[in-house]
Formats: sequence, structure tokens, C-alpha cells
Amino acid sequence: MARHLLKNLEEMRKLLAGRSPSFFLDYDGTLIPPGAGPEDSERATALLAKLSKKYPVAVVSGRRLSNLVRDVGVKGVASAGNHGFEISHEDFSMVFDAGQEARAWLGVLKERFDAIASKYPWSQVEDKGLAITVHYGWMDKAKIPALRSDIKDAAREAVARGVIRLRNSKMALEVQPNADWDKGRAVLWMLERPFFKDTTPVYIGDDQTDRYACKALKGRSITVYVGGVVEEAAFYLKKQAEVISFLDLIAE
Ligand SMILES: [Mg+2]
Repeated sequence: MARHLLKNLEEMRKLLAGRSPSFFLDYDGTLIPPGAGPEDSERATALLAKLSKKYPVAVVSGRRLSNLVRDVGVKGVASAGNHGFEISHEDFSMVFDAGQEARAWLGVLKERFDAIASKYPWSQVEDKGLAITVHYGWMDKAKIPALRSDIKDAAREAVARGVIRLRNSKMALEVQPNADWDKGRAVLWMLERPFFKDTTPVYIGDDQTDRYACKALKGRSITVYVGGVVEEAAFYLKKQAEVISFLDLIAE
């Protein structure tokens, strides 16, 4: 059963004793709160700058890499965007090759989703290049099931062919290449780079995709889920503000 991280700091210290930790941090909902303002982003950036002076750090996000680097870029901090499908750092970079069929399908689906979204006010289709996110957090709640069902119908053939997968995210559907790749695999890939070599990773995230990552990293990483107890993570924090409290302690 996951333990509350701030109430079990001694256990965390023991796990890290004699090791050099590294930090892999989700961004939205983890480093910044939902509905964050500019002051939240500035605080997160300052915290990343401070933390990265002591430890190797990566931000692992569902955002498109170019947006992540633009909004969060801190020199020396690795950025993994699109749920790990694209990664950059001064010393390494990677773009996952999803293959021609997946790329072609994403192009087709983008057009279909745009047509669907035009029927649902406040829905938003975000083309992230290697993936598509259909956001519905601002929509009339009563219409969300119909939108989700339309999106699933539009993607049914691509999913049945094994080319594309749909994953639930926070008030969004993630439409990705059905590849053996996700945030967890991206973290394992980064751990093989000299920058992260021989470190013990601490992974913190709040999303469904972070739960997959925690599962993939089990035994290899200290995993922390933000939002409550989940079976995939060793520790939990109740809310986003506690992530800042924890990282402030660590960065001191
Ligand atoms: Mg998140």
C-alpha cells in the first residue's frame, strides 16, 4: 500500500542513502496546479533550476516537446514531450519513429476529429505531431460521453488494425501510435544516457499515463503518485502543492 511521502520522508531518505538520486517529473498537475497562472509557472521554473543544480532532472510531459521546451525550458533539465515520444537535452535527443502507417493515420484522424469537434462547443483538438489530444475539460459535461464516443468511432479502424491507441488523460483523450513506448520506457531510455547513469530515479506524476510509467519503473525507481493511493506507486501525495513542499525540501 502506498505511503504518504511527506509523512514517510525517513523511509525515502533510507531508500536514497548512499545513492545519487535523479528526478523525473510530470509537469501539468504535478509541477504546476490545474488552471495554473504565470506565477505558478515561474515558481516551477525556479524550483527546477534549483533542483537541477544538485541532481539530474527531467520533465516528462504529455505536452508537445517544442511547447514544453518553450514554456518550461531550464538549461540542464531534460525535456520529454508527447508522453516520452520525443526527448531533448543538451547531451542527447530522441524522436520515436512511429512508422509511416501510424503517421498517415494520425493525419486522417486529425481531419476527422476536427470535423467532430466542430459539433461540440469548447472541445479542442490539439495536433502534437506524433500524437493528437482531444481536450474536453471546458465542455458542457453532459455532452462529453457523446464526444468520446464519436472520437472512438472515428478511430475504431485504426485501433482495430493495431496502429493507433487511445488513452485516457485528465479531461482528454490521447490518441497515440500503438507503439511499445510510453513515459516509463522514455525514462528507462534516459537512464541509459551518461547524464543519468547510475542514478536512482524518483518519478512523480498525477496522470493515468504516470500510473503506467510507475508500473514500468517498479523495482527500478521510487514512484510517487499525486492525487491519492494507487497500486502502481510506492508513495503518494494528496495534492499538487505537496509536490512543491517535497521538492523544496529536496532542493535545499
Ligand atoms: Mg499531469
